[in-house]
Amino acid sequence: MSESKPLPLQYMKGVGPKRAEALASAGLLTAADMLRYYPRSYIDRNTVVTLATLAMKARKANLFSGEMDVSRAEEINVKTEITVVARITKVRENTYGGGSRSMLIATLGDESGGSAEMIFFQMVNYFRVALREGALVVVSGTPEYDDKYKKVSFHHPDVLKIDEEDEQLYKQGKILPKYRITQAMKNVHLSMRQIRSIVEDVIEAELPKLQETIPESILHKLGLPPITNTARDLHFPETTMAVEMARKRMKFEELFFFEMMLALRKRGVKVMERGLVINPKSERARALLDKLPFDLTSAQKRVIREVAEDFQSGRPMNRLLQGDVGSGKTLVALFSMLMAIDAGYQTLLMAPTEILAEQHYHTLSHFLEGMGIEIVQLIGGQKAKMRREIKEKIASGEAKIIIGTHALFSGNATDETRTVDYHKVGLVVVDEQHRFGVMQRAKLREMGTRSHSVEGTELPVSPHVLVMSATPIPRTLSMTLYGDLDVSVIDTMPVGRKPIITKVVFENKLHETYQFIRKEIELGRQAYVVYPLVEKSEKLELKSAVEHFEYLQTEVFPEYKLGLLHGQMFWYEKDDAMKAFKNKEFDILVATTVVEVGIDVPNSSVMLIENAERFGLAQLHQLRGRVGRGAEQSYCFLATKDHFRFLLGKKDAELSERLKAVVRLKTMEETTDGFKIAEVDMKLRGPGDVMGTRQSGVPDFEFTDLVSDLEIIALAKREAFALIEQDPHLRRPEHQATRKEFLRQYAGEKGFFDVA
Ligand code: ADP
Ligand code: MG
Repeated sequence: MSESKPLPLQYMKGVGPKRAEALASAGLLTAADMLRYYPRSYIDRNTVVTLATLAMKARKANLFSGEMDVSRAEEINVKTEITVVARITKVRENTYGGGSRSMLIATLGDESGGSAEMIFFQMVNYFRVALREGALVVVSGTPEYDDKYKKVSFHHPDVLKIDEEDEQLYKQGKILPKYRITQAMKNVHLSMRQIRSIVEDVIEAELPKLQETIPESILHKLGLPPITNTARDLHFPETTMAVEMARKRMKFEELFFFEMMLALRKRGVKVMERGLVINPKSERARALLDKLPFDLTSAQKRVIREVAEDFQSGRPMNRLLQGDVGSGKTLVALFSMLMAIDAGYQTLLMAPTEILAEQHYHTLSHFLEGMGIEIVQLIGGQKAKMRREIKEKIASGEAKIIIGTHALFSGNATDETRTVDYHKVGLVVVDEQHRFGVMQRAKLREMGTRSHSVEGTELPVSPHVLVMSATPIPRTLSMTLYGDLDVSVIDTMPVGRKPIITKVVFENKLHETYQFIRKEIELGRQAYVVYPLVEKSEKLELKSAVEHFEYLQTEVFPEYKLGLLHGQMFWYEKDDAMKAFKNKEFDILVATTVVEVGIDVPNSSVMLIENAERFGLAQLHQLRGRVGRGAEQSYCFLATKDHFRFLLGKKDAELSERLKAVVRLKTMEETTDGFKIAEVDMKLRGPGDVMGTRQSGVPDFEFTDLVSDLEIIALAKREAFALIEQDPHLRRPEHQATRKEFLRQYAGEKGFFDVA
């Protein structure tokens, strides 16, 4: 960027100190800031929805009338903002709360003959003055449809007035940019048109100074517009097409720099750190293969091959293994561990919970019986003497497989695990790591590296890392998030698995479900009844889970044995309950969500989830994954209150929660594909919420939609990785602007170019 002084907005035409202050409160201080204040949407006569169409769509998407089509989840997405341009035909006030409070209702009409209402509960005095009958307004918000009154309404939408001049432009078909105008801006009378005129001046002053940050060759190859055209078209597009192209370029730009960061990180690891070379020929892996009562799936074999290649590469493996619940990830891990063990190394297996650690311990002990492999567990609550013995076995190298929880290994627990002296760690496996951010991955490797103290080389020698996740992360997102990892996918299920049949049942029909469960038990199967934790306090939670258990045991299933599993039990109590269930000492396990992850009891064929509307989609999918793990047909019942109708007329927030719940349950009925489920989940909650954006390390992109922009993500990844491959330090003159922009964005990421 040419180093001219930033131009403060205050001195621009039509701004002045008061307005400058209002703009500053939105982070707009200089002309350059204003240039980057891109419109959020456009008012375009050709694409604006008419009120008649809106009413029709709302009616169709209305979930309360009959069957809903989940493929329309997007239409139903309650976060979708809709913009209409209409005239205020009537303004009236009502009181509520026993006459103590008032609300303002403004009726909208347009040429289509449709109508809608805007409803304001707050700032009524402001809106009473601001909303005048006859005014043309742009209204953006999430419409609600009221089945009873057959009416569409917007509650507290964003309203912008269009003055006469703009009305003319709009009618002539001009595309008007719609900026976010904050209340502070409205208070100093900054209207749509005034913001636009400030931006016009800004463009004149700033556009010539804009520097292209994406290498020209890439823009050319992909047919993307240069930054100057892009900025102009975002603010003042001549056509809808121009907006599309400009937005595409902006998405590419956001992703390009992010992917570049991942590319540099990946390269840094590969160049800086040596990996242990592990010979994949393993006698014990061969022996296990011969012993298995089934064949590995082709996907399992492929992933094991990929791991074997990494082991021989001389570089530390950094691999994510994605596979839906029940796809058989544990065995892939086990085969990888056997290769490392036969090459003389120790292996670590980290589980997210203690029960799961315990289960892995038993599964692995079972598979490895008679092979002379020492497996130890590091879990909380072990007696000091036992812990000491385990530590000795680890330090001496006698222990070949060390199983524990993440918390213990990462030293989060106030535990002495940190001081465990590992002998020779060759492979770290992390199971069910759902939220695994860019930053955490670096830490993990570091931990493994520290633990590896035997080789006296100058470069640190890192153990191999295999991260396993069943989180159905949409592929788009995993590509973005894990751009610095190699990703293996298990995309086929073991043969003979039948898709789980899922049904939503209403609570007044629960006895039919109980009857069904009885039939399955009579066939020798087992069942889960999952009960959500609903109370605020732990004590109450426990009480309700216990009470529910007692009710089921005495009132519903007196003839069967029921077990109870809840979060307030000690891990060894939980473990006992799980073991008893696995040994068929119970027919039914009543559990809270602690059964969510990883539990493997293939004989269980039914799951009943009560108050299913309280669970998130990812959670429901995980829970359901506890059945359907054997050859029998399995079933999942999602119990919920009668119809959703009873909530009509309730507050918006509650209503939209109900809508989302319906979409979740319907989605579960319709598919068992974890990736599809994840996509719906992201539409409902947004990627940030699904992944926990901060943890995931993905910036909040302004233009990119991680769910739908798959193609651009792939492009950006390819181009960024290729660029770093060609010019790892971005030294070439034609890459200077790119380098500078990268450092501006990722300045916190120190040392990138030193290692590359
Ligand atoms: P997840 O990927 O959810 O961790 P697991 O590794 O627990 O799944 O495997 C689920 C179940 O499938 C286990 O009982 C496991 O023994 C079994 N399994 C794994 N691989 C196969 C296979 N190739 N054929 C049949 N069953 C398999
Ligand atoms: Mg598992």
